[in-house]
Amino acid sequence: MSQTIAFIGLGNMGGGMAANLLKNGFAVRAFDLSEEALAKAAEAGAVRCASAAEAVSGADAVVTMLPAGKHVEAVYTGEVFGAAKADALFLDCSTIDVATARRVEEAAAGKGFEMVDAPVSGGIAAANGGTLTFMVGGSDQAFGRARPILSAMGKAVIHAGGAGNGQAAKICNNMLLGATMVATCETFAMAKKLGLDPQTFYDISSVSSGQSWSMTSYCPVPGVGPQSPSDNGYQGGFAVGLMLKDLKLATEAAASVGASVPMGNAAESLYQLLANQGEAGRDFSLMIEMLEGK
Ligand code: NAD
Repeated sequence: MSQTIAFIGLGNMGGGMAANLLKNGFAVRAFDLSEEALAKAAEAGAVRCASAAEAVSGADAVVTMLPAGKHVEAVYTGEVFGAAKADALFLDCSTIDVATARRVEEAAAGKGFEMVDAPVSGGIAAANGGTLTFMVGGSDQAFGRARPILSAMGKAVIHAGGAGNGQAAKICNNMLLGATMVATCETFAMAKKLGLDPQTFYDISSVSSGQSWSMTSYCPVPGVGPQSPSDNGYQGGFAVGLMLKDLKLATEAAASVGASVPMGNAAESLYQLLANQGEAGRDFSLMIEMLEGK
């Protein structure tokens, strides 16, 4: 018999993820505060529910894809714990702070439920296409139960360790990405001022020790490297506002464990400046224009 999944949070990411569960034979009971998101999910074949508790009742597993830690904690403690059947599995795929992820997982365990944190790498296109990467925190047993559900929505499902380790992996990766993107942008801006042609510098650095994903897969200079948001007016891709959210989570987590992250802190301040200029919705490689003083 096919498994029934309660899906809570069917926004930009959750909508496509729920549609992929349906395509892979799962039944989906959907709830979102937004009428529009709910209508789209129903169109894809999900059962509309009037509350999170209603979506969860009778479901074998609960998947949440919500904006931030406060929403995740409120939904689980306020509705999911009280309405879920005894052996239901919980999967939070939102990007949230490590401390809240661990607190909610501990509270779930206290009620006898298994739970994983399973944040994703990949944006809306990967959510729609079922090609997300999931980084998963939780026990071996919870990971084993979660894997077939996550595999229906992604191309890679990786166990990162115990509770909260999925979130830890996500923010560490994105802090590194934020820092390398800033470094790549300032370097191209400086190379140009020193009289180097950007394509020539790319040809040299992309096969030298300065190479990084930010350069060779997502070059911030229009017309240089493979196709990327810089070739499209910095539209689409990974928004400045989302990078800033992840950098804030990373630097907060760093402070909570006494980790020294000067590059992460610098990247956060620079992305905050870019967001303050009204650019939160454009792609994060737009950093190069700010550093060039455009
Ligand atoms: P979104 O704002 O489009 O969707 C969130 C949805 O949650 C909305 O539809 C909202 O109505 C709903 N919601 C909020 N509170 C709720 C509640 N109490 N009960 C039910 N529904 C509620 O956001 P998104 O872009 O889909 O992002 C979701 C998560 O995925 C975030 O944590 C984000 O950081 C992460 N993420 C996003 C991307 C991306 O490219 N958009 C990439 C990786 C990770």
